Amino acid sequence: MVIRIIFFLLTIVVLVSSCTTKVDGVTINEELIPYYESFKAEAALRGVVFDNSEVQIEGYLQNIPESGVLGACRRNAENENSPQIFLDEPYWRTATSLEREYVMFHELGHCFLLLSHDDSQDDKGDCVSIMASGIGNCQTNYNQFNRDSLITELFAK
Ligand SMILES: [Zn+2]
Repeated sequence: MVIRIIFFLLTIVVLVSSCTTKVDGVTINEELIPYYESFKAEAALRGVVFDNSEVQIEGYLQNIPESGVLGACRRNAENENSPQIFLDEPYWRTATSLEREYVMFHELGHCFLLLSHDDSQDDKGDCVSIMASGIGNCQTNYNQFNRDSLITELFAK
């Protein structure tokens, strides 16, 4: 019986620790790593260097209790700690890869590019920036056709 309990505890520890890993010395949930990599690649295409071994932006999947909040960037004003990105896990579980990319790039816009929100809209009412707040008047419309130009807009800010 004692052995069974120990085995059970070990299983829990393994399950939890397998979710995050260290990349360039930075703790990141394994599911977020492809989006860090695509952000780096999209940045490089536009002449921006995203080197997470330098900026040390940690990434976590967790339940964000505030309703409608899909992600967050936490930065310490004095930069004493590493910036941290949190993605809402219930949303993440239902999101498409394009929706996941949108939220990740939005949070990296805050945490890496140090951008604030931009709720500007075009004449159809669509948001013209990935940095739209989500609670403004513009309509978020991120798809395979406008993805490239919205990413270019993000790095040109
Ligand atoms: Zn935001």
